[in-house]
Amino acid sequence: MTGPAEDSLEKIAAEVRGCPLCKLARTRKNAVPGEGQLAAKIMFIGEAPGRSEDEKGRPFVGAAGRILDDMLKKAGIERSQVFITNVVKCRPPNNRVPEEDEAVACRPYLDRQIAIIRPKVICILGKTAYSSLLGGNSITANRGKIVEKAGQKYFLTIHPAAAIYNRSLLSVLEADLKKLAKEIKDKKEKSSLENYL
Ligand code: SF4
Repeated sequence: MTGPAEDSLEKIAAEVRGCPLCKLARTRKNAVPGEGQLAAKIMFIGEAPGRSEDEKGRPFVGAAGRILDDMLKKAGIERSQVFITNVVKCRPPNNRVPEEDEAVACRPYLDRQIAIIRPKVICILGKTAYSSLLGGNSITANRGKIVEKAGQKYFLTIHPAAAIYNRSLLSVLEADLKKLAKEIKDKKEKSSLENYL
């Protein structure tokens, strides 16, 4: 088994692109490993690639991606600060919710990405990622919260796709991402202060 020291985001991406481990391999056009910086402070984890992502092999490049980009900009979060991926790396047919066996088969890729990046905060986008990573079930009741599990901080918010059909959720997502940006900024200031103490 490869340890984090010998593993790399490129290696994982190459494995994902050729992955045969679940039935989504038979219907995908392109697997979507995720993208972003090795030094990302925030990792965004959504549900699964959609049609545009499947076409391009890149995460969050359709309508939901445009919302996420806009919200990141409004929150002052640089793309260079983030890594974006999903619970499953291949598009489920007709954008259905990923099934349990698919999420389980795909999980080692996500765990390896987290182990390499070691993000300060994992931002969970929506119910599927919430339930898959933390066993939670109501993202609406818990959004805007920071929770800690096994030494890793998680920030909970809605999936940007939810705001495509319910525009009132745009302000919810905007407020949440501004809160997340503040958390990162406060943490940065605290750690630079600690360097002098
Ligand atoms: S969803 Fe994950 S486990 Fe399934 S084929 Fe794609 S990369 Fe492999």
